[in-house]
Amino acid sequence: MSVLSANLGFPRMGANRELKRQVEAYWSGKINDSALLKVADELRKNHWILQKNQLGLDIVPSNDFSFYDQVLDHAFTVGAIPKRYRDVFIKNDDDLLPSALEGNKLSTYFAMARGFQQFPGEGSDLPVIDLEAMEMKKWFDTNYHYIVPEFEPNQQFKLTSSKFLDEYKLAKSFGVETRPVLIGPVSLLLLGKAIPNSPTDFKPIQLLEGLLPVYEEIVRHLAEAGACSIQFDEPCLVMDLDPKLAQSYHTAYCRLSIAAKKSSGEPIKIHLTTYFGDIVPNLSFIFPDLPIDGLHVDLIRAPEQFESVLSAVAKHPTLQLSLGVVNGRNIWKSDLNSAFDTVSRAVAVLGANRVIVAPSCSLLHTPHSLDAETELNPEVKDWLAFSVEKIKEIVLITKSANNGIDSIKVELEDNQRSVQIRRKSSKIHNPAVQERLKGVNPDMKRRRSTFDKRWTKQQEIFKLPRFPTTTIGSFPQTGEVRKARAAFKRGDMSKEKYDEFIKDEIKKCIQLQEKNDLDVLVHGEFERTDMVEFFGEHLEGYAFTKNGWVQSYGSRCVKPPIIYGDVYRPKPITTEVAKYAQSLTKKPVKGMLTGPVTMLQWSFVRDDQHRKLTTQQLALAIRDEVTDLEACGISIIQIDEPALREGLPLRHSAWKEYLDWSVDCFLLASSSVADITQIHTHMCYSDFFDIIDAIRRMDVDVITIESSRSGLKFLRPESFTYSNEIGPGIYDIHSPRIPRQEEMEHRLEEMLKRLKRDNIWVNPDCGLKTRKWDEVDLALKNMTEVAKKFRYKN
Ligand code: GLN
Ligand code: ZN
Repeated sequence: MSVLSANLGFPRMGANRELKRQVEAYWSGKINDSALLKVADELRKNHWILQKNQLGLDIVPSNDFSFYDQVLDHAFTVGAIPKRYRDVFIKNDDDLLPSALEGNKLSTYFAMARGFQQFPGEGSDLPVIDLEAMEMKKWFDTNYHYIVPEFEPNQQFKLTSSKFLDEYKLAKSFGVETRPVLIGPVSLLLLGKAIPNSPTDFKPIQLLEGLLPVYEEIVRHLAEAGACSIQFDEPCLVMDLDPKLAQSYHTAYCRLSIAAKKSSGEPIKIHLTTYFGDIVPNLSFIFPDLPIDGLHVDLIRAPEQFESVLSAVAKHPTLQLSLGVVNGRNIWKSDLNSAFDTVSRAVAVLGANRVIVAPSCSLLHTPHSLDAETELNPEVKDWLAFSVEKIKEIVLITKSANNGIDSIKVELEDNQRSVQIRRKSSKIHNPAVQERLKGVNPDMKRRRSTFDKRWTKQQEIFKLPRFPTTTIGSFPQTGEVRKARAAFKRGDMSKEKYDEFIKDEIKKCIQLQEKNDLDVLVHGEFERTDMVEFFGEHLEGYAFTKNGWVQSYGSRCVKPPIIYGDVYRPKPITTEVAKYAQSLTKKPVKGMLTGPVTMLQWSFVRDDQHRKLTTQQLALAIRDEVTDLEACGISIIQIDEPALREGLPLRHSAWKEYLDWSVDCFLLASSSVADITQIHTHMCYSDFFDIIDAIRRMDVDVITIESSRSGLKFLRPESFTYSNEIGPGIYDIHSPRIPRQEEMEHRLEEMLKRLKRDNIWVNPDCGLKTRKWDEVDLALKNMTEVAKKFRYKN
């Protein structure tokens, strides 16, 4: 026996996002389900054959594919289909028999993911159906969103899909033996939520006993089909867990292990997989006696856990240790030498047959392959590894562990050359940036006066009415806007023409806001594809890929830019556009910037320095822009930080450190201005109450926040106080429906119960980018009328 190489999950979209295209074609009725299934089978087959035959990986995953999201797959598989969908889609019990995800099952599945509407016309017998989608949440601290399973107190579980088995068998039919991936039963319950109006003491984890028979059935089916091992993902093990959950883990894995052994033939091996953090605080959940055969740990995010985990595993007679030594969350080439050292150390302690080499987590979070990156600077490209290249690294590290480091001599030399060049490259290190950082002092992170003093001065200057109205920044990015930008980028449209086009859009946007009598205007952000990419393209130290797509949710992919070197701003970015927009109106137009923490969060970042340092560099670049905007007469500047909350570490004990530096960076970016310059920020999808102290410390003059999906829950705790100005979004921009005035009035009334009347702003809850012009026009008209009503009340 020898060291084996493994993967924990492969990106599903395909080299050219084939899955995205076909799923969207299916949704719009252009292809039927059998056509979609064919594409899916083709993709799965290609990915298995690629990993096994072309790249030479020993342990290839199956059931890592998904049409939308793997957590939704599991909720569906165990029959946790909320009642609203069951009532519409499940006609009889046969619909719930385990079978492939096709036909009616596929419709139910997508309805859960995306909601379902049916508005039959006059005279039709069909009923009106309007089902909301299930909630979506960020997958741990990644930018991947999962569907939150809904559980009810008397939840009945039932094996409803055979996807896990179909994939295993399909792979086998191509000659590829795979290791099926399942989300472990404990994490599945912990990731879910109780349905509304459940008794307050109901927690989904109480359903474990009822859920386990379904998992046992899954294990039995896989055993019968001949599977040798199953990967159970239990990422919740890296979180702060209630010690009582140790019992749940114990119960679950004892039962699964018995099921795995009971089957005819060889017992199935159970591999427990953790990622995104360190399991040491929860080691007692696993050791000494959780009956598992393998354990995977993430040694990229938490290398410090290595020795503790190794010695715990060493005490066990047979347990295999899977070492996550290749980064599944970032795009840099691994240092093969140091990975070799780690693996050798584990081999020395455990013996080769108990060691597995793997990525730190599923490769879902990295793009497919570097092959398509023909336009990337070759020097930078040489530093990178996407999923395919990462599997090559895993195979090489495994080979070196088995046959000695000399067995990969040529590849290692190549790798070490790239690693060395990157370390020393002048593209990365910029002495001027580093010098400037040393000069940062506390005064640079502090406004000149306190909020009260600034407020008084700003009132005099802006003379805004009470309940001032504004928007978050972007206005409709129509097909026309996207077409023009694409034509300009391709070189089919001249710069002059493109600039003219953008100016016309800005004019239209200002006119619409004036017509609806908004108080603080925006230019509409038509020149930006994406709030991070746009600024990244104007900063040094950033690189962009052509095809580096990563799934964000469902069929939606993002292409995070890459921060490879010291960041600085060579010249002003937004001043011209801001000046132009301001020239069109007497009302203030906000300058619109992306904050340093969000720039960091939504990029692939350097791994050769602390994230804090990279963020400080970004902060100085944004600070320069703030200073320049102020100098050219822009008196209100918004610095968006929608991702600040998302960056919170998984463990509570690390929150303070993160919030300290991230808020410091925001302050560094925003504090250069005079008292009379009004600083705004905007945040979305945050549990504001969690980070309210940090928000207070950001000391912005005005914060606008998303609050329509989460409700105004953050206002509810008695202890909530906030003294600066605040605009909790008054309607949901994610839906095409036009908000009625009464709804908005109701929300304002709610806010008035907790916030000072003088402090409330009236605005939508996020940018209007995805809406249509006529929707925006009507919605804003309703919104400003509501604000006016409140102004004149009392
Ligand atoms: N200013 C940005 C916009 O309106 C903010 C986007 C966001 O919050 N994600 O589009
Ligand atoms: Zn937002």
